[in-house]
Amino acid sequence: MSAAPAAASPPRRVVICGGGVVGACTAYFLSTHAASPTVPTLVEKCAPACAASGKAGGFLALDWCDSTPALSRLARASFALHRRLADALGGADAYGFRPVHTLSVLLPTHPGPAPASPHPRLPPWVDPSASAAPPRELGTPDTTAQFHPGLFTKAVLAASGAEVVIGEVERVVARDGRVAGVVVKGRDAVVDADAVVLALGPWSGRLEVVREVFDVSGLKAHSIVLRPREPEKITPHCLFLSYQPEPGAKMLDPEVYPRPTGEVYICGMSKDENPPDDPATITGEPDSIAMLHKIAGKVSSQLKKEEGAEVVAEQACYLPCTTDGLPVIGEIPGVKGCYVATGHSCWGILNGPATGAALAELILDGKSKIVGLDPFSPARFLKRRSRRGA
Ligand SMILES: Cc1cc2nc3c(=O)[nH]c(=O)nc-3n(C[C@H](O)[C@H](O)[C@H](O)COP(=O)(O)OP(=O)(O)OC[C@H]3O[C@@H](n4cnc5c(N)ncnc54)[C@H](O)[C@@H]3O)c2cc1C
Repeated sequence: MSAAPAAASPPRRVVICGGGVVGACTAYFLSTHAASPTVPTLVEKCAPACAASGKAGGFLALDWCDSTPALSRLARASFALHRRLADALGGADAYGFRPVHTLSVLLPTHPGPAPASPHPRLPPWVDPSASAAPPRELGTPDTTAQFHPGLFTKAVLAASGAEVVIGEVERVVARDGRVAGVVVKGRDAVVDADAVVLALGPWSGRLEVVREVFDVSGLKAHSIVLRPREPEKITPHCLFLSYQPEPGAKMLDPEVYPRPTGEVYICGMSKDENPPDDPATITGEPDSIAMLHKIAGKVSSQLKKEEGAEVVAEQACYLPCTTDGLPVIGEIPGVKGCYVATGHSCWGILNGPATGAALAELILDGKSKIVGLDPFSPARFLKRRSRRGA
């Protein structure tokens, strides 16, 4: 009697490596799969959402990825899933999900005289002198939304029921071209698995099985979180700023996201740099943090430390970047049952749900229906490498 090939039946033991938004969403959609719900084990080195997924802005946009068709399909599917998840998980209370207005604001290099009356589009908590030109509308509550990304990541992970193991994945174990498990530092036995998902953000390339196929680099970005003097005055308006600190200096593009808790998150100041081994040791650079405070004070006197704004956090984290700017989502060539999902750059919070849902379908059904994964396949890098080598 010949046994059915292993790939024909859905895997029973799935191990996800990495507890960021991508790993957490994958856990959720595996465990809520209609035909073959599968509760995975998730191995996280530090703590769920300890890296970019806990320190990001949490801004979502329906159509801002439309210039790249493959990414547009992922983003639009994910935006819709975010709405469904917010309904299913009580997102407004659990993680501050809310639709927002989004504006582009040009901060003046040197403040001029305050205009006689503020531009009607400018939110009341933004100082009238903060806008050197009429603000432009970038998104409406139908097309843009926002939440606390760390609370979201923890909420979807909790709802998945996944067993969370704190430990560092050192390598993937494969036998006869098929995944067999992962080695976790300090553990004698291999953690057995029929399927493994590598969702290690900018650390993905530290594993040989990934490094052999493609490169993942980090981009360090800074953020501060402030509690304004009068939090009740802060309206749901996200601001995308353009600011030149000095004439002739590089233009900066910081972002300001008020949260329903009354806190205001401000991010920007990035540079190419790979993350340290331990996510817990990441700190912001003083110059970059100081510039974010300067910008916050220019946007609103409510956000000035000197005028009573409380500093809740000063931090940094790393975007996971690929060489062609597209995420990598799919099975690793040559290692059946070993999947990777990384390289989401500045849109990982937005695109986490569609990535997780697509991977869950690929793993459990053999094919993703929610969004086509061909453009995101890791195999694209092998083809390029072999062309370069030819
Ligand atoms: C300042 C800033 C603002 C952003 N704002 C937004 C936004 O508004 N909207 C948006 O859509 N995106 C935003 N992003 C992008 C988004 O944060 C990332 O794309 C996303 O968080 C990446 O998620 P991830 O799960 O791939 O990686 P990460 O969040 O980096 O998670 C990877 C996890 O893997 C763990 N890990 C690493 N190595 C190991 C190991 N060997 N074993 C076990 N675990 C390991 C880490 O501890 C970490 O928890 C922002 C990013 C930054 C930096």
